[in-house]
Amino acid sequence: MRDFHTAGHLKGHTVEWPAEIHLRISRSPPPQHPLQEGKTHLSETDKPSLASAQAAATTGCVNRFTTLPLDQSKMGSNVEMLASMPPDQQKYMAEAAKRKRPDGMAQFQELHFSDNERLRQLADDPFADHATLDQLPVPIKSGDRVKFLILGAGLGGILNGVRLIQAGFSADQIRLVEVAGGIGGTWYWNRYPGLHCDVESYVYLPLLEEMGYMPPHKYISGVGIRNYLVEMAKKWDLADKIMYRTQVNGLQWDDGIRAWKADMTTGRGPGGQEKSTLWMNADFVLLNTGLFPHPQVPKLPGLTGFEGAMFHTARWDYNVTGGSSETPFPTLDKLNGKRVGIIGTGATAIQVVPEVAKWAKELYVFQRTPSQVHVRGQRETDLTEWREQIAAKPGWQTERMENFAEHLSLGAPSDHKNLVGDGFSHLSAYYALIGGIGSDKVTPEKVPEHIGGLLALDATRAAKVRARVSEVVKDEDTAEKLTPWYPVWCKRPTFSDVFLQAFNQENVHLVDTDGKGVDGVTPRGLVFNGKEYPLDVLILSTGYRSPGVGSGNPSVRTGLEIVGRGGRTLTEKWTSQGPTTLHGCASNGFPNLFWMGPTQAGATANFAHVLEVLSRHVAHIVAKGHEQAGACKQDNGVVVEVRKEAEEAWSMLCLSGAAAFSATSVCTPSYLTNEGEAMLGKPQELMQRARGAPWPTGMVAYIRELDAWHDAGKLEGIEVTAA
Ligand code: NDP
Repeated sequence: MRDFHTAGHLKGHTVEWPAEIHLRISRSPPPQHPLQEGKTHLSETDKPSLASAQAAATTGCVNRFTTLPLDQSKMGSNVEMLASMPPDQQKYMAEAAKRKRPDGMAQFQELHFSDNERLRQLADDPFADHATLDQLPVPIKSGDRVKFLILGAGLGGILNGVRLIQAGFSADQIRLVEVAGGIGGTWYWNRYPGLHCDVESYVYLPLLEEMGYMPPHKYISGVGIRNYLVEMAKKWDLADKIMYRTQVNGLQWDDGIRAWKADMTTGRGPGGQEKSTLWMNADFVLLNTGLFPHPQVPKLPGLTGFEGAMFHTARWDYNVTGGSSETPFPTLDKLNGKRVGIIGTGATAIQVVPEVAKWAKELYVFQRTPSQVHVRGQRETDLTEWREQIAAKPGWQTERMENFAEHLSLGAPSDHKNLVGDGFSHLSAYYALIGGIGSDKVTPEKVPEHIGGLLALDATRAAKVRARVSEVVKDEDTAEKLTPWYPVWCKRPTFSDVFLQAFNQENVHLVDTDGKGVDGVTPRGLVFNGKEYPLDVLILSTGYRSPGVGSGNPSVRTGLEIVGRGGRTLTEKWTSQGPTTLHGCASNGFPNLFWMGPTQAGATANFAHVLEVLSRHVAHIVAKGHEQAGACKQDNGVVVEVRKEAEEAWSMLCLSGAAAFSATSVCTPSYLTNEGEAMLGKPQELMQRARGAPWPTGMVAYIRELDAWHDAGKLEGIEVTAA
């Protein structure tokens, strides 16, 4: 979009870069935030004003999934801009320009919806024990009515159930529907060797105090998380309330019975292939289907004709590699003597590569963009430290989660020690992506200064993470190619003490594609730059559909049609009005329906924290709604619905802070910017999308906002009625 970016040419590449960023680099600290001044929540005067929202809409800003036009008249000339730009930023620009593609998200195909059977089957559930599942009692029969229907039995879905029970409802009133053959969500599907959560386990695993559990390591393995979630479901009697192998296809609000009708397809028998349809009614529906449910692969010529074994990391095939998903570092002995290729070097591949490197005869790593690989520092949990420091007092986990969030959001008061204290919690420029202290003060005309300030804030870290590559990787050429050239907020940062080291092994080969990606696939292997790399096994570590598709429309993300009052679909509302919610979790016209952000909610790098906060919040709304309606918790017919004026006010507050998320405009493409598509569109479309910005002042400010709303005790902005 030339309208709002300055275009220029650098070393033969067409570049687009918001003007003036380089000219106004500021090292001045962000403005003091009201919450740092000791306030517990924002007053009306502290909040961004409607006028500033309108200014944002007319002059321009960019957020992580949305873009608004920058004011042309404020832009510097290309020549002036390029000449005065520091070398690192010129390199950022050139590297980003290399990777911009006209096909954007269309370069990928989603496995579930591929028209090729082989690719479609790569999305099948390889982990379900169908014979055992067939023996389980069926928790839902067609025509049933339940109080709560939760879609998804991952971390968020189980938490939803627990928080409802803690709010006074019973497990018998709850049913969960899950596509997979087990509990875990993303931790069910992702079982690749080496899998660990990159966020500290003490702040990632929910309910540690209630569960009385001490994670064995600072960073827990995927299998550890999956097992923990199973235990959570058992403890709160939810395990037998889950209908596995079942897909909800559509939700329709029925005013007559004041409930939702859910149409579903369920599978039984070998491979879950015996399909049947059923429906049920539910007073309340909670959507919890995760951020990354749809694995994708690039549309590479010849991919489906590859004659070796092939799978996506989201469905690891242990029949091919050997080993099992029940251990964090499995024995991949079937890879002995094999030539293995992996496409992708994102947060997933960083964990996979060192494990495959231990077993494969040759491993070829096909890279388009290097990851930024920070120090990990994994260690066992020390019992004394756990008892005396980490889990020393009631409420410690909430405090620690908030502490992690505030340190990432530049929002920690000076006397708040960084409790997590790891690499992630020190990535303060990550604030560009999640907002924080002072974000609401970023007006459109301050965008260049804001981005300049962030680049300056990130500069030392960026230099250090680049230097680490050449310190670790012995071969100079390989080290140079593994060096990342973009700010911290452009890709999920990664943490590993074994990934870069793997390239010192003789059997590990980097095939760097210089930002282009592999060219194609033959029956024997992968092709790049006219050279064929023969392979026995091809691992696709190529990510997922961006959660930002459809501007965070929950209907798009969950893949089901949601029809609210008067036959209006959520998609029609989202498309015509833009993202519109109260607190990021509910919308007028869709009563008794909730989702867990991320659009218009607080954002942080620890999504489990977002799920925790919203699970509590939704349980509060539902329980309080019953109280206000004078209904007891067993009654049907209580309806809670967001008021139009309340959701519009909330949406405008998010829009008014959208300028703070402008820094992704300098990024190399990724799912965070819908592969660059977030920057495209007519001004009106961009303005609508910008309503989907996260709560501007960061996660902790968002929590305080909800706390204050709870304390007021009125469910302000929500209408409650009873049958
Ligand atoms: P990503 O989308 O981050 O990575 C996909 C990779 O595939 C990128 O390296 C991409 O390159 C590459 N790629 C795509 N097309 C081609 C092509 N044609 N040729 C060569 N390479 C190509 O997916 P991940 O699965 O790695 O991670 C997704 C998200 O999952 C993370 O960002 C994170 O949020 C989450 N995650 C969380 C973890 C945790 O511990 N909490 C661990 C792992 C993942 P390019 O960069 O150029 O697009």
